Amino acid sequence: MKFYKDHYDVIVIGGALAGLSSALMLAEKGKDVLVLERHNLPGGIATSFVRGGIEIEASLHEMMSIGPKGNRLKVGKFLEDMGVDVEWLKVPEAYHASIPGLEVTLHPGLETFAKEVDAAVPGTYEKVLKLLNLCHTVFDSVNELSIHPMSKVKMLLKHEAFVKTAGYSTQEVIDSFDLPQKAQDLLAPYWIYVGSGFRELPFTIFAVLMADYVGYGSYIPRKFSHEMSLKMAERAEAMGVQIEYRQHVEKILVKNGRVYGVRTQRGDEIHADYVISAPYPNKVYTSMIEPKSEVPEGAIKMVNGRRLSLAAFSVIMILDKTAEELGIRDYSIFHGDTMDTDLLYRDLAGLGPYRYLTCICHNLANPDATPEGTCSFSITTLPRVDGWQTVSADDYDRVKHEVASQMIDMMNKYLGFDLREHILECVIETPMTIAHYTGMWNGCIYGYAHTMEDHIVARLQTAEEEKFIEGLEFAGAHQISGDGMGPAVTNGRKAAKNVLDDMKKREAAK
Ligand SMILES: Cc1cc2nc3c(=O)[nH]c(=O)nc-3n(C[C@H](O)[C@H](O)[C@H](O)COP(=O)(O)OP(=O)(O)OC[C@H]3O[C@@H](n4cnc5c(N)ncnc54)[C@H](O)[C@@H]3O)c2cc1C
Repeated sequence: MKFYKDHYDVIVIGGALAGLSSALMLAEKGKDVLVLERHNLPGGIATSFVRGGIEIEASLHEMMSIGPKGNRLKVGKFLEDMGVDVEWLKVPEAYHASIPGLEVTLHPGLETFAKEVDAAVPGTYEKVLKLLNLCHTVFDSVNELSIHPMSKVKMLLKHEAFVKTAGYSTQEVIDSFDLPQKAQDLLAPYWIYVGSGFRELPFTIFAVLMADYVGYGSYIPRKFSHEMSLKMAERAEAMGVQIEYRQHVEKILVKNGRVYGVRTQRGDEIHADYVISAPYPNKVYTSMIEPKSEVPEGAIKMVNGRRLSLAAFSVIMILDKTAEELGIRDYSIFHGDTMDTDLLYRDLAGLGPYRYLTCICHNLANPDATPEGTCSFSITTLPRVDGWQTVSADDYDRVKHEVASQMIDMMNKYLGFDLREHILECVIETPMTIAHYTGMWNGCIYGYAHTMEDHIVARLQTAEEEKFIEGLEFAGAHQISGDGMGPAVTNGRKAAKNVLDDMKKREAAK
């Protein structure tokens, strides 16, 4: 029996959230799709692993764009529409902010959140609520415009708040609300989820982040992020998608400016009209296009012109007592010695000590996350990729343990006990772990940095010019919706939509 068909409509490289979302959407439209995944499992970073007989979440803290049952947001709705039946658990709070002079737990819901900020910094309710409402208005516009692009004039008439704020940084818009510094600090913790300091972060990104996470709350799958990726893969196969594991794609084949297939590491040449790539454009344009002469100069300029964003460093522990016994009260803790996001961003370029950590205790949203009498506790920071590129193979083990140790020490001070005395299992994930496991360029999980020069609005406008090779699409954090599991799904859908639109165009031109 032949392993592959002679021809597919679309080959998707990478069977993780983005690639599987593309596959689901294309299969639903009756297209013949092959997914090639280099691991023996689907999911990429959306996975779990087992240590000491305990299944441990590898990455997910919380997911945006899911929404409650009966009122799902775009990612939750897409998965439901595709028949991917995930058991979602709501995360109980937005976060606990532990920053100089403030120990405050904030909950989702725009008014609730504003009231709780006001309780910590009296007299701020009206202004904070107004700011959050503005975020929500911009969020609604972004959602509508990403589905129904419109002329600039129409946009101005229908989406005034979006247009008015699009050219401003987060800090500039926050400054216009004249909020005391402490209230500003309480609004800032999620910054690390988009990875740019507020002087550089376009307000549009902050608005979407706050409206989604604070407005609707966040969710996790009961059986870890791997529940989602496994169910997506199962559903895709049930819809006729061919998924082949342990198939590493080495080359994307191009002729006269158009893709016609891929070659795998084991030498199979497989043909298709379209290829959707999880590997970063940096990787594709520098080493995957065959022949090299088909790589347009503009493509190399584009990847060189973009700044890579953040990687991840996590210390994931299973502890020998329950969260309650240890006095861990919050699902999500953001802990730092300053809330100056621009300063924190600059610090992330190095190898620590890192000053801003995000911690998760899964049991507080999912009591069954670990065996009875234990709990999980992870400490994460998101360093920039640059610093980690300087670590030599000889130094790697030492640096990794030093950084992990500093992070544990910092959280010990906050928690008031020594985590080390309670560790049953401990796993350290570094940018190298991620690069090794997923093949992501330099271990970067956030795609390209959001800046005032290179932001979502500009990217929407240059998207067409950045189609350097016909039939080649990308799906991953390097695309328009950016980083995270929810955006990975949206990026995958967008790549599939581009393919479907192009198919229609070519059909009409026949
Ligand atoms: C520690 C950590 C914590 C995180 N926390 C959160 C969180 O709380 N919330 C959130 O929303 N997001 C979080 N993220 C980010 C999120 O996990 C990712 O953005 C998302 O899962 C990426 O999905 P993806 O499909 O774009 O790519 P990936 O998961 O990177 O998958 C890419 C896939 O492509 C495959 N592949 C690559 N090259 C090839 C090739 N040449 N041939 C065949 N297959 C190939 C890989 O094996 C992999 O399966 C976290 C990430 C980390 C590391």
